Amino acid sequence: MTRIDDLPIRDELRGKSPYGAPQLDVPVRLNTNENPYELPETLVARISERVAEAARHLNRYPDRDAIELRTELAKYLTRTAGHEVGVANVWAANGSNEVLQQLLQTFGGPGRTAIGFEPSYSMHALISRGTGTGWISGPRNADYTIDVDAACAAITEHRPDVVFITSPNNPTGTAVEAETVLALHDAAQRARAKAAGALVVIDEAYGEFSHRPSLLPLIEGRPRLVLSRTMSKAFGAAGLRLGYLAADPAVVDAVQLVRLPYHLSTVTQATALAALEHTDTLLGYVEALKAERDRLVRELRALGCEVTESDANFVQFGRFEDAQAAWQALLERGVLVRDLGVPGMLRVTAGTPAENDAFLDAVRELMKETSA
Ligand SMILES: *Cc1c(COP(=O)(O)O)cnc(C)c1O
Repeated sequence: MTRIDDLPIRDELRGKSPYGAPQLDVPVRLNTNENPYELPETLVARISERVAEAARHLNRYPDRDAIELRTELAKYLTRTAGHEVGVANVWAANGSNEVLQQLLQTFGGPGRTAIGFEPSYSMHALISRGTGTGWISGPRNADYTIDVDAACAAITEHRPDVVFITSPNNPTGTAVEAETVLALHDAAQRARAKAAGALVVIDEAYGEFSHRPSLLPLIEGRPRLVLSRTMSKAFGAAGLRLGYLAADPAVVDAVQLVRLPYHLSTVTQATALAALEHTDTLLGYVEALKAERDRLVRELRALGCEVTESDANFVQFGRFEDAQAAWQALLERGVLVRDLGVPGMLRVTAGTPAENDAFLDAVRELMKETSA
């Protein structure tokens, strides 16, 4: 049998594992931060309509620059994120993972480095590796907030080309203060003052779930600061694969150098446009999920768990002597959560009230067993 390592793959990929959240068939799946609500029937009907119309033109390539979609995304950000942006500020791709990949292909690459503050979203390191960008693991405080002094020191020492700031952070749920972003941004520009500066990427995949306003206004006057967003979480459209960024128009021009021609299919663009017509309904689910997220924090604490403050649609909880064993025990009770290797901690996605009740019941039993 031929193994991967028998093939002439790139050295930096040898012995590595692919991204792999288990997709197991269990009653309560709270492991990948998806929105638990199916799309409403009125939106499903509208998607069918727009996709049917688009289907007539599938003999042609899609709008390469996705102008209508980017215009609607810009309107959405302007309306909800506290800062006016236009079509020239916005770029879209197949999930924010592709947006991040395009950014790394443009601003990272061989001989260059990116830094993130861990524990954080594992794909930042994985996409860096995939694009030949060196990865630097920066520090966090014990409460999972960013240690500003240590982070700035790491930036000054390593002079990274790309800085990732995830707010709210995954898997901890921790939001980042605007002042922290600015301190890291300024340190990164100082460290690379002799080059053309550094690109700072705010990954705001969970922005809509936060107690705080978006960090979007910070892009004003900062052409090296990029905000990344997705329709996978708040819009309940993980299956759609639609991510986007907002930045100075020069960044949008720069990523065109690496994007594949016609990367965003006509069907994707039509579906995303239909979803954006139903923003208000979808954001209604976000409010319900935020309330459930806050309930999970309260009830887990009442059960005696250590819980990290969360601004996302998930909650980090523990502290278990053996997180892997706790993960397994919850799975045996029909509840799938996520073990991301943060010592003693697990992550649960806020589901429907019934799913969250089932999860809390399972944790209650588990806590009884371990204290007995
Ligand atoms: C889920 C998630 C994304 C979203 O990725 P998509 O490719 O848009 O589905 C991006 N960043 C973080 C931190 C995430 O947790």
